[in-house]
This record gives sequence, C-alpha cells and structure tokens, in this order.
Amino acid sequence: MTTTQIQTYTFGGQFLPEILMSPIHDLLQGWNYYRSQSAFNSQLTDLFKHYSGRPTPLTEIKNFAAAIDGPRIFLKREDLLHTGAHKINNALGQCLLASYLGKNRIIAETGAGQHGVATATACARLGLQCVIYMGVKDMTRQKPNVDKIKLLGATVIPVAEGSATLKDAINEALRDWAANYETTHYCLGSALGPHPYPEIVRFFQSVISLELKDQIKLYTKRSPDKLIACIGGGSNAIGFFHHFIEDEKIQLIGVEAGGENNELGKHAARFLDGRPGVLHGCYTYLLQDEEGQIMPTHSISAGLDYPAVGPDHSKLYESGRAYYVSATDHEALRAFYLLSKVEGIIPALESSHALGYLMQIAPTLHKESIVIVNLSGRGEKDLEQIKEIS
Ligand SMILES: *Cc1c(COP(=O)(O)O)cnc(C)c1O
Repeated sequence: MTTTQIQTYTFGGQFLPEILMSPIHDLLQGWNYYRSQSAFNSQLTDLFKHYSGRPTPLTEIKNFAAAIDGPRIFLKREDLLHTGAHKINNALGQCLLASYLGKNRIIAETGAGQHGVATATACARLGLQCVIYMGVKDMTRQKPNVDKIKLLGATVIPVAEGSATLKDAINEALRDWAANYETTHYCLGSALGPHPYPEIVRFFQSVISLELKDQIKLYTKRSPDKLIACIGGGSNAIGFFHHFIEDEKIQLIGVEAGGENNELGKHAARFLDGRPGVLHGCYTYLLQDEEGQIMPTHSISAGLDYPAVGPDHSKLYESGRAYYVSATDHEALRAFYLLSKVEGIIPALESSHALGYLMQIAPTLHKESIVIVNLSGRGEKDLEQIKEIS
C-alpha cells in the first residue's frame, strides 16, 4: 500500500470527548437497525413523495447552454423541493429516525438558517419538539429565517460565545446533546461530524442520484459525462455523486467557494489550501494555519462558508475519483444572473458556484457531451444580499 492509500482510509472517525461517546454509540446502534428496516424506509419514501415533492425533475437548459457555448446541460431540480433546497431530504430522514428511536426532542445548529428551517419543518410535520442553536451574529444577518423557524413552532437559542456564528452554535448543540441524549436527537445538517453522521446524511441525500440514474437514461439513452455540484459541508454533492461513483467513466466534480481570491482567509476552498485535521469530531480537510488554528473563511454564499469538508470528499479527493475546483464570488454571480435571465430559474448562490465553474470550462467541451449540475436550491433567499452588492 502506498502512503496515499493508507491515508484514504483514515478520514472520518469519532474524535469526541468522553461525554459524547454514549450518545454517538446509541445513535450508531439505532441507525444500524433502522436503516434497512422496511417500515422506516417506506414511511420515508412516503414523506418524500407526498410531502416534500420527490422525485424532483430533470431539466435540460438549452438556452443557458447556447449562451455559454457549451455542451448539453441538465439540472437536477432540488430547488423545487418543499423549503427550497436539498436540506429537507436529510432533515426529514433524521427526524423520522429520531421518532423511531423514541426521541421526541430534536436539536440542530444552523448558520444561514436553511438547515434550521428544514429541521423545524420536519419537526412540525412529525410532531417533534424542536430547538435550534444559532449564533447571535447569524440571527441578525438571517432574520427572515429566524422568523420562519419560530413560525414553525421551534425555539431559537441565541449563542453569543466565541465568534457567535455557526461553529459556536455547533459547540452549544453538542453540549445540549451530551446532557439530554436520552430524549434528544442531534440533527446534524451536512455530511460532516463524527461517524455515523456522514454516512446517515449521505444515505438520505443519495435519493438524488438514485432518481437521477433512471431519469438521465430515459431522457438521453446514455450515461452522463460529467456531474457537477457545489460543496459546503458536502451533503448535496455526495448524494448527487453516490450512485455514480462505481461508474468510473463519469467525471465527478465538486465546486468549492473561491470567495474573493486565493489568499487564505478570503475563500472557503478546503482542497485549494487546506490540510487534514480534526474539527467537530472528524478527521478531514480543513482550512487552518501553521499551528492548526481554524482559519476564517469567506464566501458570498453562506451555505459554502465553512472551514471543513465532509470526510467522504477527502477520500474521493485523495483517491482521485472526484475532482475539486473552485468558483469565485464573481463567477457565481455571473451564473446567478444568466440562469435567471435565460431559463427563468433563480438559483441559490451556493448552486451558482457549480454553474459558474461550468461557464469557465463550457467552450472546451464537446457539444454532444452531457453535463448534469445539481441545482441544490433556489435563490429567493439570496435576493436581499444580491441587492446589497449591486
Ligand atoms: C446548505 C446548502 C448548500 C451547502 O451544503 P452541502 O452540505 O454542501 O450541500 C448548498 N446549496 C444550498 C442551496 C444549501 O442550502
């Protein structure tokens, strides 16, 4: 075995204080039991179909393709789901799992508020008590989402510690979980954190590629050439890649937030400038300084603005099975405007990064090649911010 192969298997893990070992052990046991149980899976399928709006369509965007002198381009429309993004797949899955585990109190962290809204929504539907931890700085920046979460019947707990943003909210949620895990499930928002969270989140999000495999065959009679998705923690991308990983002819591309420029601190591109380390219970690529201090990140899109990436992506990166690139704030904005204008689809700023990267490479691709972009969410939530910039 070469060194890189050994490293490939070390990402993930459970780097946790003693006090969290019992809750994570209980979760692992429950998960291993219910993941293959048919009552659980059929109830989840039912929620996806009749509540959140699955299967999501596959849309060919010929005007956009012509405008960028590109190949055939399709969008997987996670933006059309209830609450406007793929996050509801995971929130419904984990909240349903919690109710099977006999836990009727759900806690979650949220940064931009999207995962908070998705979790509060799932809890309202499933009759679960819901508590959302949110940094006070984020609460001011994301007031409409705070209002929505409250409307959905959840409690928002402001976190003033540290930088009063997402990572501080995660710390508080973990503290709550350690104290209350007998009644409480911690609904983590991306394919991150200690095992089994990355696996659980991937399982719920992999419905995206499961549907897509049939849809693209039906539509084009062949396999796609490239799949492109944006990467924050990595949940929409891993769900979108999952059922295509075995087919090595298909190129998998993850697009990170290139922010303002390549300088450390001005972007959130972990594979551009990061090194492996431990954050929030798992070993993975992180943006850190020489001493291992976590670096501040920047992105126009709150959902991609995070110093760590899910461990599955670190594995795919080191094995070479997937490619990781970045798109800048500016490139994402260009794509945001173009897709809105020529297709009547306003993309989330997160998803706009995937489109922004595609715009760069489009003229070099064969006109008959097939590229699918995961449209992880819709852009209505970003309009205020867009107005501020322009
Ligand atoms: C949260 C979010 C993301 C980033 O999270 P991942 O876990 O990387 O998918 C991407 N797109 C949208 C629309 C989001 O809300």
